[in-house]
Order: sequence, then C-alpha cells, then structure tokens
Amino acid sequence: MTAGAAPPVAPPNPAEAARQAQAFPRLTPAQIARIEPHGRRRHVAVGEVVGDAGEPVTRIFVVVSGRLDLVRPPRWVGEEVPTFQAGMFTGERSILAGGRFLARIQAGTPCDVIEVARDALLALIQTDAELSDIFLRAFILRRLQLIDQGFGDVLLLGSNHCQGSLHIREFLTRNGHPYKFVDLDSDADSQAMLDQFHVGAGDVPVVICRGSVVLRNPTIQEVADCLGLNPTIDRTAVNDLVIIGAGPAGLGAAVYAASEGLSVVMIESNAPGGQAGTSSRIENYLGFPLGISGQELAARAYDQAQKFGAKILIAKTAIRLD
Ligand SMILES: Cc1cc2nc3c(=O)[nH]c(=O)nc-3n(C[C@H](O)[C@H](O)[C@H](O)COP(=O)(O)OP(=O)(O)OC[C@H]3O[C@@H](n4cnc5c(N)ncnc54)[C@H](O)[C@@H]3O)c2cc1C
Repeated sequence: MTAGAAPPVAPPNPAEAARQAQAFPRLTPAQIARIEPHGRRRHVAVGEVVGDAGEPVTRIFVVVSGRLDLVRPPRWVGEEVPTFQAGMFTGERSILAGGRFLARIQAGTPCDVIEVARDALLALIQTDAELSDIFLRAFILRRLQLIDQGFGDVLLLGSNHCQGSLHIREFLTRNGHPYKFVDLDSDADSQAMLDQFHVGAGDVPVVICRGSVVLRNPTIQEVADCLGLNPTIDRTAVNDLVIIGAGPAGLGAAVYAASEGLSVVMIESNAPGGQAGTSSRIENYLGFPLGISGQELAARAYDQAQKFGAKILIAKTAIRLD
C-alpha cells in the first residue's frame, strides 16, 4: 500500500449484514398494499417533522416514496444513523410498549407516507403473520441496537457502590430501556457533568431524561412516568381481566387472554419477568432446549402480550382489590 492510500474497506460481515437487513427491511409493493387499508396516506413536505424527540410514540410511518431522516441528536456520535427510504418504515419497540420518540424524524425529501396508528398496527400484526414477523423483528432488533450503542433518552449519573444507582440500572435494564451510565467514581468528566446539571454528589443517583429533566434520587415510578413508559389507561373503562404481577404466570395469562380477544390490563410493581427475569439461564422452560436467559424470556413474553393488545403498567403497585 502506498503512503496516503485509503485503507482497504473490510467486507461486510454476512451475519451482520443479514441482521441489519432484518432491522431495516424494505417492504414489497404487495406488503405495502396490505398495510394501506390500516393507515392514512399523506404527503409530507421536505423538512416537515413527523415525530419529535420526547413526543409519545403513537404511530409509525411507511415510506411509499421519498425519504424520512432520523436527525442525529448532538450526543449521538460515532454511529451510523438510519434513513428510511421507499419501502421502509419508522418505529421501534416503544410503539408496542408505550414510550417516546428518542430522536426527531424529518422528511429529507418530499415524501408520500402511510401513517399507521398504534391500534391499527396492532390489529394488522394480529391478523397478518408475514407482516407481524417483519415488524416485530425490526422493532426488537432496533431496540437491541439502541441498547448496544447506549443511546437513549436517559443519562444516569451514579456509582457502582450506590444501592440506588444499581436499583435504577436494574430497572432500566430489565425493562429493555436504553441508557447511558456515568460512574461518578471513575469517569474523568463526572464533576463537569454534575456542574452542568446543577446537582451535587449527595443527589445521586441522578437521572437526566431527554437531556433536560433532572430527577434527583428518584423512585422507579418517577423514572417510568418521566420516560412515559406506560400506556395511557382509561380508568373509567371496564376490562375483562386485570392481572397483578408480570412474572411468568401473569405474562402467560395476559398472552392467552389477549390472544382470545379479552381486554387485559396488567399491573407490575417493578419490571416484566418477575423472579424469572433475574435468572441468568433457565434450562427447564418448555420449548427452549438450549436454555434462555430470564430477561430474554420476559422480553419475548412482554412483546407477545402487547402484540395481542394487553396494556401493561410497569412500576405501579396494586394496593387493594375491590
Ligand atoms: C434467580 C432465580 C432463578 C430461577 N431459575 C429458575 C429456573 O431455572 N427454572 C425454574 O423453573 N424456576 C426458576 N426460578 C423460579 C421462577 O422464577 C419462579 O417460579 C417464577 O418466576 C414464578 O412466577 P410467578 O409469575 O408465579 O411469580 P413471580 O416471578 O414472583 O412474579 C410476580 C410478579 O408480581 C409482581 N407483584 C407482586 N406484588 C405486586 C403488586 N401488589 N402489584 C403489582 N405487582 C406485584 C412482582 O414484582 C413480580 O414481578 C428462579 C428464580 C430465581 C429468583
């Protein structure tokens, strides 16, 4: 190689390329035609913002023509930011679980899109097995990428020696919520961060939501509320089934009841998975001959229950039954 020549570009790892294609698939015209009756086609002008960081995620967009861009927030550095070309769709796991947009989505060119609201999307994936596979796999893989990159709307300032910090880390991890942790005991920039958010060492753990809301030594309920992790529940509505506890028993009941068409609300005081969610490996669960981690089992069941329309409240404790 001569001096100054560009280094050879490594060929893409085939497994990684396949995974990326599943995370950001292109729908065929026939698949888009099946989505169209569930949504609303509309034109988006160049520069128009269709979803902004911090807004509740209530819809996805299927791009028919043109391009939607994910606008890289200032703190999201070093990672390739996806764009959504014709045939692609926006959204990630938060469309199932409730939550907020992590970044702005804006039209990079004039576009035609199909806007699909959450309830219509759930109705679609409950009846169309092929689209269900495509959407759910993409949403879950995108969330895993966000977790790998530590990109999210949460910055946690704390210490690995502080019980409160560990409790919030466990809560975010078990809920599959991406976050960045700054260990104040070892991070060189820790004092600058404390100064930036006007907090002191006595306030830890400190949770910064969306770069602006500062929670000092919060409860997990306060974190969940700030992040909008819970779906809106109509408290006047009568449901067919209320399940208390999202351990394996509760999640199983939610999947079976919701898949049979019952309206289900589940209340969990911590995170989905219960005791099983804390297990590093479960070897005796039916259908998993190689074993599965408790957290993965819980995440699968949580997504499955929500796919069938169960509404799951986390970090909420049932006090009494009337
Ligand atoms: C570390 C570990 C490893 C394990 N490994 C295995 C294994 O390999 N194989 C195996 O068969 N079993 C294993 N177990 C046991 C297994 O996890 C339990 O049997 C199983 O989780 C019980 O499920 P459950 O849904 O009945 O209750 P739990 O898992 O206890 O779930 C109950 C849920 O209800 C919630 N809750 C309680 N009260 C309220 C309230 N008032 N309001 C709202 N929510 C509430 C709790 O937060 C919890 O999430 C393991 C357990 C642990 C702790």
